[in-house]
Amino acid sequence: MSLPIVAIIGRPNVGKSTFVNRLAEVRDAIVHDEPGVTRDRTYKPAFWNDRDFLVVDTGGLVFDDDTEFLPLIREQAMAALAEASVAVMVVDGQAGVTAADEAIATWLRQQSVPVLLAVNKCESVEQGLIQAAEFWSLGLGEPHPVSAIHGSGTGDLLDKLITFLPPTEQIEETDEIRVAIVGRPNVGKSSLLNAFVGEKRAIVSPISGTTRDAIDMQVERNGQRYRLIDTAGIRKKKQVEYGPEFFGINRAFKAIRRADVVLLVIDAIDGVTEQDQKLAGRIADDGRACVVVINKWDAIEKDSHTIYEYQRHLEDRLHFTNWAETIFVSAMTGQRVEKILELVNRAAEQHRRRVSTSVINEVLEEAGNWHSPPTTRQGRQGKIYYGTQVSTQPPAIALFVNDPNLFNDNYRRYIERQFRQSLGFVGTPVRFFWRGKK
Ligand code: GDP
Ligand code: GDP
Repeated sequence: MSLPIVAIIGRPNVGKSTFVNRLAEVRDAIVHDEPGVTRDRTYKPAFWNDRDFLVVDTGGLVFDDDTEFLPLIREQAMAALAEASVAVMVVDGQAGVTAADEAIATWLRQQSVPVLLAVNKCESVEQGLIQAAEFWSLGLGEPHPVSAIHGSGTGDLLDKLITFLPPTEQIEETDEIRVAIVGRPNVGKSSLLNAFVGEKRAIVSPISGTTRDAIDMQVERNGQRYRLIDTAGIRKKKQVEYGPEFFGINRAFKAIRRADVVLLVIDAIDGVTEQDQKLAGRIADDGRACVVVINKWDAIEKDSHTIYEYQRHLEDRLHFTNWAETIFVSAMTGQRVEKILELVNRAAEQHRRRVSTSVINEVLEEAGNWHSPPTTRQGRQGKIYYGTQVSTQPPAIALFVNDPNLFNDNYRRYIERQFRQSLGFVGTPVRFFWRGKK
């Protein structure tokens, strides 16, 4: 979920905030009203080529001043640097090297983070190179002449900067997949749970959940850890206490909220009921990944058409989660039970997948070429400027357009379908935000 961080460091007035705004300019419109993207306003999303990252302005760093706030500012800069993959030190090319620059450079050289040196306010190219050369003396390597106001020179700096960002695989790595097993009573949830944790290969350990009777279990297969959520709730013999019609839907909702991937268990004999649809709706609304598990497949009389007929029944009745993979299993005989985890892995991977801005814009361009946005009777046509992924778990894509009102549901669905067709995202819901300029 977390993006690499680029820390901007320098003394006051060298142009740090102008520089940050320059890097973040295209993304600026996205951040403010998106819950969960960036809560702290000093972190601004930016991208260059295929890479997305956050830029943080550390505030004016000073060392030889005894203002009241100095320790606080320095602490902030330290904290920003600690989580940064790379730092950019900004200096003022027109002012030349100052004592404060030297103090900051000395401090930066002692840190383990790679540092790039941006010599700002170099509006003219030839003069800029001369101005910049002076800053070799800081011992931070090549000085890059830039103009934060005009944007010149920032491209070269960014080319260099992204080489210091960690590889994408490393960022997306998480070690545990949280799995909720939900479904109506008697569909076979506890039988499935036993099939998972009862295996000799599984390492089982109860770990504490949120409440005393919500026990999670940890299972490991092929080096992957899974946390099975609220296993106490699954095992509880509720029929005795409440009668068979008791659904325990709140408990299921709670488990869904805590999960990465939800196993929606359906009884093959009964087919999809209204309660199953309710659960599917909640899974989609909560933005959870999902695998649809049709259990008791052993109890169905089958011929060569059965599975296709069943699949059609599912398409008809489970449209909230029509992006989810389906698997037909028997917890009783163990048929295909182990394969469920393969589907869980795939869904979890898609759920936290991040697609680069350039790929998203290729899809948009392609989609727009096949089928251009609608035009109103007044002759106004919808125009998509660009799109970018703003978050993961689930993936959310913001589309920047001239006016969201110009895009009817039909066209929106078309674009969303094109994304699925080109990029897959099987097993996870994907959210789209249609945004007007400003
Ligand atoms: P910060 O205190 O380091 O964040 O600096 P600011 O971004 O607030 O900029 C300080 C001053 O430098 C402002 O008056 C800016 O307009 C000016 N400034 C910033 N970038 C440039 C630039 O590229 N060229 C010139 N000439 N002035 C700049
Ligand atoms: P839960 O209430 O969802 O936890 O369901 P249980 O795991 O307690 O199973 C309810 C009933 O369905 C039990 O009688 C199980 O033996 C039976 N059952 C579970 N899985 C299967 C299966 O794959 N095939 C068949 N034929 N019966 C099953």
